[in-house]
Amino acid sequence: MSESCSKKTLAELVDRCRSVGMRRTQALESVLNLLLNSESPMTAGEIVEAPALKGHCDPATVYRLLVRLEENGILRRLGLRDRAAHYTIRHAHHHDDYIVCTKCGSIEELEMECPVEALEAEIAKKSGFTHLDHELEFFGVCPSCTASDSH
Ligand SMILES: [Zn+2]
Ligand SMILES: [Zn+2]
Repeated sequence: MSESCSKKTLAELVDRCRSVGMRRTQALESVLNLLLNSESPMTAGEIVEAPALKGHCDPATVYRLLVRLEENGILRRLGLRDRAAHYTIRHAHHHDDYIVCTKCGSIEELEMECPVEALEAEIAKKSGFTHLDHELEFFGVCPSCTASDSH
């Protein structure tokens, strides 16, 4: 993502936050900026430890902020229920689907076109629903856990 593009996206995200009644704070901007520039979903622990936040934002504030951002649909929560949640930005116009390892909890973006767009169109047609959306998480055992299993 180019820098100007990510600035525009950050401004749009801040607008979305304000429209749901959240205050524009340094912690809010830092969290959004960090996740926008992150290659993969991050845990709350990784977020508070990131150089952009550590020492600048109170961890308790950041944890509360993450919960509110998720409740307001700005962030998507991913991963295994019994492990640390991972957070990623929920974009207005595109989405990614993910695969999660049930052994080590690692999360990867699917490197393929969304596998269910045709299905979504069919569901819309049959149900009469419009503005369909979905969130996919596939679960399995990652290559490195598979390799260490067979020893
Ligand atoms: Zn694994
Ligand atoms: Zn998809």
